[in-house]
Amino acid sequence: MGPPGAGKGTQAKFIAEHFGIPAISTGDIFRANVSRGTELGVEAKRYMDAGEYVPDEVTNLMVRNRIDEPDAEPGFMLDGYPRTLAQVEELDGMIKHTGHALDAVVVLTVDQEEVVQRLLQRAETEGRADDTADVIRRRQEIYGEETAPLIEVYRDRGLLIEVDGLGEVDEVTRRIFDALDVVPQS
Ligand code: AMP
Repeated sequence: MGPPGAGKGTQAKFIAEHFGIPAISTGDIFRANVSRGTELGVEAKRYMDAGEYVPDEVTNLMVRNRIDEPDAEPGFMLDGYPRTLAQVEELDGMIKHTGHALDAVVVLTVDQEEVVQRLLQRAETEGRADDTADVIRRRQEIYGEETAPLIEVYRDRGLLIEVDGLGEVDEVTRRIFDALDVVPQS
């Protein structure tokens, strides 16, 4: 977890590689569908371009299907999901069904100003449609409203690992590994 621009996507890939499990990024799956022009992509794009969340039913079904794939059988790392309380509940049901358990929830803590700068920079290098100043603002806002409250939910469950997301990428990766390597795996 962490606000848009915290470095979730970058770090998720390193974590997945480290543990030999797939990184499942809802944002990446949506973007792949947008570029293939699928029905899901057409629906998701409307929300993504405005910086809004794709409706829970759509997102939940997509994650459910993805974690049913054979490569996720040994375990998986979710990037950008869950983002709402309804998604937390849905994920609880999904992992119970597959016999998995949630081992840890990593939150990257970052300075809001720094994050906005990162996103504006990414707009220049990657040209993502949702990296314009207005949409960036809306994405930060909706994160605060819908997703930030999940931090307390997972803290109460004893699963939360807060990592300082500022600094060099490999420094942040090392902080995450140091914290995750001592978590007992289910
Ligand atoms: P991301 O790459 O994680 O920043 O996601 C890009 C966009 O995809 C978000 O701004 C949302 O529009 C959509 N999205 C990704 N994950 C979710 C989710 N768990 N729930 C709803 N919308 C999502």
